[in-house]
Amino acid sequence: MKKHLLISFLTACLLMNCTKKKDDNKDSVTLLALLALSSSSCTTSFGAGVPDWIKNSFTCVTVSVSGSNYVFKTTSVPTYKSVYWGSTSSLYESSLYTNSSGKNSANPNLIKSQNITLTVPMNNTSTSAPASSFGAIGVSTNGIVIYNDQAAPGDSLSTEYYTFDTSQGHPTNTGAYHYHVEPPKLTNNDSNLVGIALDGYLIFGKKHDDTANGTSGFSLGGANSTTQCNLSGKTTSVPTSWTQAANYNSTKTSSTAYHYHVNNGSEVNGIILSGKYIGTAGTSQ
Ligand SMILES: [Zn+2]
Ligand SMILES: [Zn+2]
Repeated sequence: MKKHLLISFLTACLLMNCTKKKDDNKDSVTLLALLALSSSSCTTSFGAGVPDWIKNSFTCVTVSVSGSNYVFKTTSVPTYKSVYWGSTSSLYESSLYTNSSGKNSANPNLIKSQNITLTVPMNNTSTSAPASSFGAIGVSTNGIVIYNDQAAPGDSLSTEYYTFDTSQGHPTNTGAYHYHVEPPKLTNNDSNLVGIALDGYLIFGKKHDDTANGTSGFSLGGANSTTQCNLSGKTTSVPTSWTQAANYNSTKTSSTAYHYHVNNGSEVNGIILSGKYIGTAGTSQ
């Protein structure tokens, strides 16, 4: 896609500092023109006081600090190919996720830019395990919102599952693109940071770290429990394999800190967030 090529070129320019003469008006004009052309692609911006671990982990979100909350705003529009762009889009691909039971078939919806705001508590230490609701209950590191393991009323996730695109996402009837299960664009049976839940606790891939422990020692919940990490009966801090762990809130990195993992199941059972949060959630609108 033209825009993407331009964005890549612009990024390469910035990295290589190819605008050597900073006082050269011509270069500035060219850069401005490129920026204008890329304005419809995803936006990443961080306000005053947003910590490094967020800046270094998230893209396609606008994050600010409001009191004791982080405010994540996202359009939840993927930057990759999907059947849900529609056949006239340059980002269209006809294939869907190929699951073990057979082939998926697309739902009738198309991706539409959303205006989603998640207000997430910074220093939550609550472990009251309230039920999560339908809709956005977290945001991924690529700006795509996360839904729980429930499908829209009248349907079940085990049915909806067969409509996932190659990246395990799909849009609602209002075009809101989202994930329910392990998103291969971000994690594949590893300890990558996947996103942040509405209660402010972080979500990692299926593994706590890269050791042989794998996921076997985890106490991972299904639809009716939290997905707290528990290695050998001991609650553990966020994975130190996460390069931003040192920059994370110290209340969340102690040995008794809670965090989530993608559930240790495949396909429809590899849910990201279950029917309950760890602690009191912020708001989503
Ligand atoms: Zn869904
Ligand atoms: Zn863990």
